[in-house]
Amino acid sequence: MKKTTTASFATRAIHVGGEPDPTTGAIMPPIFQTSTYVQSSPGEHKGYEYSRTHNPTRDRLQECLASLEEAKHCLVTASGLAATSLIMHALPHGSKILCGDDVYGGTYRMFSKVFHETHEFEFVDTTDLKKLGERIQKVKPALIWLETPTNPMLKISDIAAVAKLAKKVKALVVVDNTFMSPYFQRPLTLGADIVIHSMTKYINGHSDVVGGALMLNDDAFFEKLKFLQNAVGPCLAPFDSWLVLRGIKTLAVRMEATQKNAIEIAKYLEKHPKVQSVIYPGLKSHAQHAIAKKQASGFGGMITFFLKGGMKESRRFLENVRLFALAESLGGVESLIEHPAIMTHASIPAAIRQQLGIHDNLIRLSVGIEGIEDLKADLEAAFKKV
Ligand SMILES: *Cc1c(COP(=O)(O)O)cnc(C)c1O
Repeated sequence: MKKTTTASFATRAIHVGGEPDPTTGAIMPPIFQTSTYVQSSPGEHKGYEYSRTHNPTRDRLQECLASLEEAKHCLVTASGLAATSLIMHALPHGSKILCGDDVYGGTYRMFSKVFHETHEFEFVDTTDLKKLGERIQKVKPALIWLETPTNPMLKISDIAAVAKLAKKVKALVVVDNTFMSPYFQRPLTLGADIVIHSMTKYINGHSDVVGGALMLNDDAFFEKLKFLQNAVGPCLAPFDSWLVLRGIKTLAVRMEATQKNAIEIAKYLEKHPKVQSVIYPGLKSHAQHAIAKKQASGFGGMITFFLKGGMKESRRFLENVRLFALAESLGGVESLIEHPAIMTHASIPAAIRQQLGIHDNLIRLSVGIEGIEDLKADLEAAFKKV
């Protein structure tokens, strides 16, 4: 099926890039596990020379993802951070970047410890449009980096409004769409210029691949990124590309199932006597619930909550869950639980963590698609030990 098809999301997820193998009829595409390709005469080949540059399995995945994000182009990369690094490499030295103040810890680390020598970064609250508008006018950034919802505070930025502000100074808008997946949110249709994903999370969905993707419509910028991927090297392996193609087929049903469970758990936590507060974009109590409803067709499967107590209570709780696995990462079919201050966000300085609200009693859930009664029972048993 061509990536320009008007078929529904669920159909495209299964069929774009999923055509049967033309030589054998195999319904599943082969894994082109090859580094190089034979040429009939020097420089004469079938479009493939070397797998850092091109690989047929990777091409299929890129076609599918471009279709799902409603993008003209897609590149898949060795990790989500590799996609981010390609965008940074594409900017001239001295570029100014306004970045959300609550982004993924690894993004913050890359900007503040790797690219700070060549680019200028300022971290701002991108949910505050007035303040952001002022900074955009003052700084005149080349690029604005949004993550929405953020990790772990699940703050929502208004993508269309930020894109409008950015246009005034011709700044590019990048949205890290990892938490929503293209199933719930498609930033390019809201005015963003580039979307990035950690495919490690919902897109692959089975916790067995580390990979990334970037999608965009601009031909020239795509060519630049493609050149850089080949020149710098962070490409996705054929087998990993195939695993993601396999995982993506169920993206629509997985996102529906994870959200259904997450809504029920968020409501359960909100009423729990041992919980101080719950952050979930689907709850009416969420500060940007209205924006979430406006720009996305769902609220996802991530929940952040504050336990009553501190480090001791958090440890007791986390040591006593059984079904929820204590692990970093998110977006798989299995439920995960973690402590951002010690685990995923340890690379963010303690003072900044406090400022952002990442306190010792904050716990993050990635709700999987297990039976809801089992998940609730697991949390309840752990609460009893606190
Ligand atoms: C995991 C993650 C990344 C980084 O992706 P990797 O695949 O781990 O390199 C970037 N952004 C968000 C929101 C993430 O959750």
